[in-house]
Amino acid sequence: MKKILLQGFLLLVAVQSVFAQGQHSAPDPAGPRLVVGLVIDQMRWDYLYRFRHQYTETGFNRLLGQGFSCENTMIPYVPTYTAPGHASIYTGSVPAVNGIIGNTWFNRAKNDYQYCTDDDSARTVGSESKAGNMSPDNLWGTTITDELRISKQFAGKVIGVAIKDRSSILPAGHSANAAYWYDGGAGKMISSTYYMKELPKWVQTFNAADPVAAYMRNDWNTLLPLSAYTLSTEDNKPYEYSIKGIKTVTFPHKLSALTKEKYEAFKTTPYGSSYTLDFARAAVRNEQLGRDEIPDFLAVSLSSPDYIGHAFGPNSVEIQDTYLRLDRDIASFLQFLDSAVGQGKYLFFLTADHGVAHVPGFLHEHGIPGGGEDDQAIKKQLEEIIRTQTGVQRPISNVINYQVYLADSVRHNENVREAVIAALKQLPAVATAVDLEELPESVVPEPMRKRLINGYTPQRSGDIQFVFKPGYFDGSNKGTTHGLWNPYDSHIPLLFYGWGIRPGKLYRETYMTDIAPTLAALLKIQMPSGCVGQVIHEVLRP
Ligand code: ZN
Ligand code: ZN
Ligand code: ZN
Repeated sequence: MKKILLQGFLLLVAVQSVFAQGQHSAPDPAGPRLVVGLVIDQMRWDYLYRFRHQYTETGFNRLLGQGFSCENTMIPYVPTYTAPGHASIYTGSVPAVNGIIGNTWFNRAKNDYQYCTDDDSARTVGSESKAGNMSPDNLWGTTITDELRISKQFAGKVIGVAIKDRSSILPAGHSANAAYWYDGGAGKMISSTYYMKELPKWVQTFNAADPVAAYMRNDWNTLLPLSAYTLSTEDNKPYEYSIKGIKTVTFPHKLSALTKEKYEAFKTTPYGSSYTLDFARAAVRNEQLGRDEIPDFLAVSLSSPDYIGHAFGPNSVEIQDTYLRLDRDIASFLQFLDSAVGQGKYLFFLTADHGVAHVPGFLHEHGIPGGGEDDQAIKKQLEEIIRTQTGVQRPISNVINYQVYLADSVRHNENVREAVIAALKQLPAVATAVDLEELPESVVPEPMRKRLINGYTPQRSGDIQFVFKPGYFDGSNKGTTHGLWNPYDSHIPLLFYGWGIRPGKLYRETYMTDIAPTLAALLKIQMPSGCVGQVIHEVLRP
């Protein structure tokens, strides 16, 4: 009797769960069909809430309401730049381990700059320029996308999409099926011979329609009446840079008047994000992503918010409008995934590669300290001092990423190293300077010290590091940038949504490096080979 009752109960549970699956398309217990990573270049965490009253219910608010938000996600290294950010998200690692210590660093052997994804052995596919002579060769270790490929014996597809080359190439990993990025000279999406011999038909068709020209026939007007942008400073400020080819810094930005500059200027418009998502949709459709049980991975990065942020600053009408439009773009992209892959069948995450500092001119208007300092001027000053002390004519090879690369002839001279540090400490904008090889013994407070150590690799880094006071950065007094350890640069949004995700919010500190191991736990695959992060177990549905 007891047994019959129990069987009856089990049957009832089974019927109910089948019913529930049909009703709400409950998640496939085996795994998601598609993982979509969406990196918003330069998105500060506070943008999630600052403009929330003007977001729709189906964009950021859908992710916040139905997904899981890690509210205090920090970047655990410096410099907080685009290439290290994308590399860290996808490797679960830090520059000290994945090797991506900057967008560009100084290559001692070549005595020249080294761009993160430049590769002399790769050639552009899809245009006549050199914008595609690239590969992930400088990235050490695997990405979560590589691990997904390995786990299913390379049967699942991985595709990277972005306007910036590095934001597509690094997330897609070493074993990607393809990475596509935007050639601003040609106005087309391109790739490199590292991935393919020629562009697939669907990419050629996408480019042939010249969608960029179509977008640029629209001017950039505010989405809402200008009077609704009460959280931003007035539209016309002397510390704003204009869009390439346009003289004014106010709405409407007359994009339709641009001729030959339009393809390059396109990057600094909100339409750059719409276009990137158009391309992502085309990739899902034409590459049949998410159609079967073997999970695919689409790694998308939206670069335009970064170009716009650098020019106009985080407190501009332009940035507020960019995020209102982005909210609508995200809403329609999620809707597309619902129909193309199925609600509950894809795993989606949204994060950023770094934040951004306020424009110094804006800070000064309100009595808040900060400023742009030119690192090449600092290099000159340091050279002057060392030259007088040692007589060596060119004692400094380079100053980049807030690091001084000493010339080989003086590199092992303790007196020179000490003199450089002492000189740096005299500069008004500098908080401290340290010998990178003596970091563990240096008197540098946490979390600065940990972040400096995580950003240092002897093969690629400089010798001496300097840290600016809060509000200061390498730049001018127009526009703004990012790159330091401070919260405005290192506090990023992190949202998980969809397959396997429990809705909720978490306030303990989590890190950019935790994203990849959390994905690995959800997908039941190995963590990337240099992973140093930890699983954010609160995200996982029990
Ligand atoms: Zn960036
Ligand atoms: Zn403006
Ligand atoms: Zn940037």
